[in-house]
Amino acid sequence: MSDTTDIQEADVLVVGGGLHGTSSAFHLARRGAKVIMLEADYVARHASGVNAGGVRTLGRPLPEIPLALMSREIWHGMSDLLGENGGFVASGQLKIAETDDELDACRQRVAQLESHGFTHEKVIDRDTVLELEPALARHVTGGIWVERDGYALPYRTTTAFRLAAQRLGARFLEGTPVRRIEQRGTRWFAVTPHGTFSANQLLVTAGAWSGELAKQVGESVPVHPEGLMLMVTQRVAPFCRATLGATGRPLSFKQFDNGTVVIGGKLIGIADLANRHGEVDFARLVRSARTVTDLFPHLRNLGVNRAWAGVEAFTEDELPVISASRKAANLYYSFGYCGSGFQLGPGCGQLVSELMLDGKPSLSLDAFAIDRFSRSAAASRSGASHLVAH
Ligand SMILES: Cc1cc2nc3c(=O)[nH]c(=O)nc-3n(C[C@H](O)[C@H](O)[C@H](O)COP(=O)(O)OP(=O)(O)OC[C@H]3O[C@@H](n4cnc5c(N)ncnc54)[C@H](O)[C@@H]3O)c2cc1C
Repeated sequence: MSDTTDIQEADVLVVGGGLHGTSSAFHLARRGAKVIMLEADYVARHASGVNAGGVRTLGRPLPEIPLALMSREIWHGMSDLLGENGGFVASGQLKIAETDDELDACRQRVAQLESHGFTHEKVIDRDTVLELEPALARHVTGGIWVERDGYALPYRTTTAFRLAAQRLGARFLEGTPVRRIEQRGTRWFAVTPHGTFSANQLLVTAGAWSGELAKQVGESVPVHPEGLMLMVTQRVAPFCRATLGATGRPLSFKQFDNGTVVIGGKLIGIADLANRHGEVDFARLVRSARTVTDLFPHLRNLGVNRAWAGVEAFTEDELPVISASRKAANLYYSFGYCGSGFQLGPGCGQLVSELMLDGKPSLSLDAFAIDRFSRSAAASRSGASHLVAH
C-alpha cells in the first residue's frame, strides 16, 4: 500500500454481496452514504442466492423475534421500497405436529412467546391444519400457524436490493475478493487483487468467510461453515399453498406457482470454504425425501430435478453477529445467520445502517454483540475457579 494515488475512496466499504451486504448498502446509500461494495465472486452467488426463500418469523429464537417482526413489515412493503417485491408471496407458514407430544411442545412454545408479549404464532388443531392443507397425511395432530409469513425468490430479492442501492449511487465491484483489511489512522483500507479501497467505516457481511476477516483485527469468533442442501422436484398439480415445516424432524417445504416443490430444512451437506462451494450428500437427502412422502403420500413417485448445497455461517449459540467491533473503531459486522438469515436481510440492513450512521439502532442489538462469546467463556472460567476456591 505504498502508492496511495490509486486508492478508491468511499464513506463506507461493504465486504460481501449477499442479502445482508446488499440490504445494508441500500439502507446506507438511502441515508446519503457513499458506498463501495466489494464481492469476491458475484452478488448473490452464495447462501443469499440459493436458499429456500422462507420468509419465516415462525420458530425464531426469542432474541431474534423483534428483528424478524420488523423485517416482515419491510417484506410486505417491499414493492414501495425497491420498486419490486423479490417474488414475495404471503403464503403463511405452518409448522406441523405429527404426535400429541409434538402438539404439546407447540402449545408450550406459543405460551412462552405470549409470556414475552409476542402473539404472532397461533396453535391450531388437526381439523384446522387439514382445512388449510387438505392433501396432508391424516396422522397430523395440529401445528403452529403464522398467517403473515411466506416465501420469496432469493436471487431476485438480493438483486432487487443491489439494483436499488446502485440507483442511489452505490458502486458494486464483483470478482473482487478482499484479502486484507487494516486501519491506518482513522481510515479503513481493503486490499484486493484489483486495487486498494479506503473509507471511514467498514462493514463485514462476508457470510461464512467473515470469521477470517475478523481474525485479521484480532477478533476471534466461533463461526463455522455448513453446506445446507435443497432439492427441487418436477412439476405437479397444485396441492399445497402454505410454506411448511415440521416439529419433530427437519423440513422446509413449499410449492411454487409453476408446480415445482422445493424441499429442505437445514439439511447438512458439505461446505468447502477454501474452494468456495457446497456439495450435496445424497444419503441425507434421501432421509428428507422420506419425510415429504410421509406427509404427502401422493408424491411418492415424483421425480427430483435438481439438488444443490449453499455455504452458510453458523455460530456457537445459533444467533448472528450484528455488532460494532470491540477491537477497532468504525468496523462493523453482520454475519452468522445460521440458516435463517434470508427473512432477516431487509430489516437487519436497516438496523446496521442505523448502528453505523447514528451509533444507535432503533431495536437493541445487544444479544448479537461480537464479544458475547469471549464474555461467556470468561464467565464460565471464573465460575470454574470459584468452584475450585470453595
Ligand atoms: C440451502 C439454504 C437454504 C436456506 N433457507 C433459508 C430460508 O428458507 N429462510 C431463511 O431465512 N434463510 C435461509 N437460509 C439462510 C440464508 O440464506 C442466509 O442466512 C443468508 O443468505 C446469509 O446472507 P449473508 O449476506 O450473510 O451471506 P452470503 O449470502 O453468504 O453472502 C456473503 C458474500 O460475501 C462474499 N465474500 C466472502 N468473503 C469475501 C471477501 N474476502 N471479499 C469479498 N467478498 C467476500 C461471498 O462471496 C458472498 O457472496 C438458507 C441457506 C441455505 C444455504
